[in-house]
Amino acid sequence: MSQNIIVETLDEDRFGRTTKVTIGEKTIITPNFCTLVQNNRELNSLMNLSMLSESKHLGTYIIRVFDTPKIIMPRLENKNQISIANLESVEALFLKFTSKHIFFIDPALEYLLYEFHARKFVKALKDLRTNPKQLDVLLRYLEERDARKETFSKKEYEFWKKAFHKKFWYNLDRNQTARNKFVGDYLDLETLCGSEVFMPPVPLVDSEGMLDIAKRINTITKSIASRTKPCATYFIFQKSFLRNDRLVDKFISYMKSDPTQLTIIKIKNLDIWKPGCVQQRENYKKIMDTMYEIRRINPYKIFMALENWYVSYASASYGYNIVSSSMHGFDRDSSFGTNTYGSWFDPELMYYIPFDELKNKVLKNTHNNVMPCYCSVCKTIKNLSEVKKDDWYRLRREHYTLTMNEYMRMISQAISDRTIELAREKLANSQLALLRDLIPRQ
Ligand SMILES: [Zn+2]
Repeated sequence: MSQNIIVETLDEDRFGRTTKVTIGEKTIITPNFCTLVQNNRELNSLMNLSMLSESKHLGTYIIRVFDTPKIIMPRLENKNQISIANLESVEALFLKFTSKHIFFIDPALEYLLYEFHARKFVKALKDLRTNPKQLDVLLRYLEERDARKETFSKKEYEFWKKAFHKKFWYNLDRNQTARNKFVGDYLDLETLCGSEVFMPPVPLVDSEGMLDIAKRINTITKSIASRTKPCATYFIFQKSFLRNDRLVDKFISYMKSDPTQLTIIKIKNLDIWKPGCVQQRENYKKIMDTMYEIRRINPYKIFMALENWYVSYASASYGYNIVSSSMHGFDRDSSFGTNTYGSWFDPELMYYIPFDELKNKVLKNTHNNVMPCYCSVCKTIKNLSEVKKDDWYRLRREHYTLTMNEYMRMISQAISDRTIELAREKLANSQLALLRDLIPRQ
């Protein structure tokens, strides 16, 4: 057995629950928001936010494995080489931050199919591995994919890529030695980067065959992971998963039989707030109903949602204890908006509004140019028209993260006031009205 996670229920109101979760020497309060950090600027922002007294629900953060060489590794090297007294203020802040926050590394193997981070992935593997045999099977895969992209036509390539991806996992699954080495190598990589919970290197699931492989990778990971830290159960699904009742039922029966304390679920490109996604919302609710049933029998179980996007608030109100999204709130691979004034997350609408619309709203509705937000970051904005693009990049991310923190606080407060059913109303009054049905009425 790997190390235990200590879960203590602090308060309950019908389907809602607040807990104290302890991993090693660190304790977080749930519901908790786990920030997906994608670059150094974002980590600096998160570290600054962690100094605020209001940020009690930001105790976890996650970085995808291919982003660690640039964000985490240089800081870890500093941490080991320099004495604390000599550290620059940034490093001192990092030490303080890491002593309190629980760090996850996402193996992010859906990018064996998706290509958005392809170059970065290859480079990171080369930078991180400590011997040329470590994860050679993965590197060969990524290099061959890259080579074929150059030689095939677009149509040929897309067809080939899907088959190649499937073949990679089926071959690995059949070859016990290669599979165990792959898992072991991946866990070594996670440890090297300083992760505090093992996340199994599972494939993207879009079929029953892939679900079975993901289950086996989860089982093997638990049997070979070192006992020094907890090991989670992890599943990554394609969004079509929620349209497949049979696959959802199979997954639910696995959840019921899995003894692991922490289950982490990522559904890619989740967009169930849109009209027309009736079946997807029903299945999402069914999965959360199962989580509720499971924790009634076993209160030591916790659930975490990655790339949960606009669904975070609903998830944290009911099934999940920890929810996560990127710092700008969008959980879709896109380089859109990197060169402009990105949109702003409206805490009341629970949705994004474009920068120009925000500017109009601020000028029209408020005296003295006050931002329509109570977070301590927005309070520092004296005149929106004069904010520089670079500062806006930081401000809107910090504001989003504090808004998520505030949502988590509101849910906790509602549980303590015995009014958790109001979570439905908050959604009903927002742009995300269709998500209210994810939360029980009573
Ligand atoms: Zn704000």
